[in-house]
Amino acid sequence: MNIFDFTFNPYGLISLFAVVTNGILLYLLVSQGLKVLANRWFSITVLFLIVWSVSETLVRFSANPAAANFWYILGMPGWMFVSPFFLSFVMSYINKESFFSKLSSLIIIFIPGFIFLFLGWHTKLLVDPSLSLTRLTFWGWDIYKEPLFNVFMLWLDSLFVMSMWLLFDYWRKAKDPINKRRTLLIGLGVCFPIVIGSFTNGFLPAMHFEILPAAVPLTTIMSGTVTYAILKYKLFVISPSTAATNIVETMDDILVVFNPRYYIEFVNKAVEKILGYKEEELMGQPVQKIVTSDWALFEKKTVKPLYEGKEVNNVELNFQNKEGKTIPVSFSSSLLRDEKGEIFGLVGVATDMRKVRDLLMSITAERNKVTTMMNSIADGIIALDRETKVIMINPAALSMLHLKESEVLGKQLNTCLMFYQDEEKISAKELLPTKKLESDKIVVQKKGIRVVNQKGVEVYLDLTSSAIKEGEQVGLGAIISLTDVSKEKQLEEMKIDFVSMAAHELRTPLTAVRGYLSVLQEEVVDELSSEQKSFLDKAFISSSQLASLVENLLSVSRIERGAVKLQVEPSDWTKITTDVVKNFQPLAREKNIKLELSVPKKLPTVSVDPFRISEVLSNLIANALAYTKSGGTVNVKSETVKNELVTHVEDTGQGIPESALPRLFTKFFRVSGVLEQGSKGTGLGLYISKAIVDMHKGRIWVKSIIGKGSTFSFSLPLEG
Ligand code: ADP
Repeated sequence: MNIFDFTFNPYGLISLFAVVTNGILLYLLVSQGLKVLANRWFSITVLFLIVWSVSETLVRFSANPAAANFWYILGMPGWMFVSPFFLSFVMSYINKESFFSKLSSLIIIFIPGFIFLFLGWHTKLLVDPSLSLTRLTFWGWDIYKEPLFNVFMLWLDSLFVMSMWLLFDYWRKAKDPINKRRTLLIGLGVCFPIVIGSFTNGFLPAMHFEILPAAVPLTTIMSGTVTYAILKYKLFVISPSTAATNIVETMDDILVVFNPRYYIEFVNKAVEKILGYKEEELMGQPVQKIVTSDWALFEKKTVKPLYEGKEVNNVELNFQNKEGKTIPVSFSSSLLRDEKGEIFGLVGVATDMRKVRDLLMSITAERNKVTTMMNSIADGIIALDRETKVIMINPAALSMLHLKESEVLGKQLNTCLMFYQDEEKISAKELLPTKKLESDKIVVQKKGIRVVNQKGVEVYLDLTSSAIKEGEQVGLGAIISLTDVSKEKQLEEMKIDFVSMAAHELRTPLTAVRGYLSVLQEEVVDELSSEQKSFLDKAFISSSQLASLVENLLSVSRIERGAVKLQVEPSDWTKITTDVVKNFQPLAREKNIKLELSVPKKLPTVSVDPFRISEVLSNLIANALAYTKSGGTVNVKSETVKNELVTHVEDTGQGIPESALPRLFTKFFRVSGVLEQGSKGTGLGLYISKAIVDMHKGRIWVKSIIGKGSTFSFSLPLEG
């Protein structure tokens, strides 16, 4: 009998293909490293598949039945152990590694394999290799299988089904998509050879069907997909001990384990980076070698408390590196005990504090810089926390507010300072942002705030409150910067006083001048030449203009001093407008301008100061007549819009250039250029009008198209 008697069989090539493919896959798997248990189990599975496919190849190439039987029997372990190995792989893949620690479970899945192998090798109960029974089929030699072979197939398939079930269960529970996909891939890859292979190699031949046994080539699909899943997703569950070893080796901190006699049993790689020693240089050496000068402290602060049952966390210590330089570290440690509770060592983690120390230094430097800056700038700075407590105040702010640091620091802002805008109190809470900030921003900005300190001293300030995004985390509510404007305020007041005084002084002589001029106009007019008469008229007009300027100046100074008090009463708006318009009819007729009034018959009563509000209406109508040419129209209209009474003074005059609109209501502003020609105004009328409307809590605005006309409008709030 020559077992090496081979002949060519094309079907042998299929098996050879499986040998080669599985061989390549095994190489790929092993080259990934076999640290992960699941990886190892699967590699063994593939190794056994190779044994099986090699044996099948040799059977098919055998030239005589004896050789075929020999290779068949020799290769038996190949197919007998594939399923228990595969199950082992699945167990570790789904994180059930603990399964293998029990001998009983290993026996359960492997022992039947050994029994079948024994039966296969030593008895004819499983297969009968008698030469007379070995048949030559179209694909090669077929060794005769006994009925027990079906029992073997049942066992093999049940292990595979179990594996499949475990995989399916794991797939169902897996949360992350990669894990899910990989599990599915493995499951599908395994499905093929099991289902089809069981038929072609087991059940169909048992029913005397002649079919090509396809299990071996099909296993390449299985090992191919699983290997792909391993390589592609690299996500084989790492065992905790592998993970721990990796962490210890890659961590930046020194991990040192020493025994109760202070000899180092283990130290990780980080020691080289931090202290300059190689691991081998320290293993077996006393710990003193790295602690040296701080030894007493080390014992006192870390070892002793541990033996006393206390925790040792982040103790600041100095280690010494190989060159003898001091390295500051933060040290945490704990005791190692065996199962009986006996202490057999200490484990410690030391974090290099050099970086932290440098960081701390630079933070301190930065803080000092900021403090110096705060102390030297002229603007006042106050920092508040989230509860408006003062957490910082600079000297400029203290001197501005006539306070001592001890009187404000740590106190609620409103207990030491009161802020007023006009007469309204501003509470400190208004200076804080109301919601979480996305970026740094200014919360409030107010000009000319009156601030009264707890001793009653009053100052005027411009105030800007800003907040930073990180405020909440660092307990900072707002940073308030203050500029003292008391001097400007004083100056402004002096100016107003001066204007008011000058206007007052001018008023009396001016009234006299106008009085005498009008007497002259009436009484001596017949004795004058027409030229003299025109002089007299001009003098009267100029004095009237002067008088109106003086009146306007007085109004302005009164407004600015806050001396204008409204005498509000429920009034009939139709009557007010009718009266004012009636007053202007003679002037309108003189200028040949149509002055119309369209006010609805029934208007709700408004609460206004009739005298002041008539002044506004007069101003607007006077302007409309002044800046409209002969032949034009001025229309006064009122309407109720929501909760407001809105009045429009519409003209068909020259209009106002757009660039002038934003400044129209400011003091002394007049549109310059050609437009100015028509009238000689003071530029105060609209300013005063706006002030009066504001006092009524209304709004005033204008729409104008140059060359077409302007519409001045103001609103007054209606009750309810
Ligand atoms: P003035 O005493 O100059 O009229 P105002 O404050 O009443 O002062 O008006 C400011 C300026 O606004 C005027 O000088 C004028 O140029 C412009 N203005 C006011 N009303 C009108 C209007 N109805 N049509 C065109 N321009 C106007």
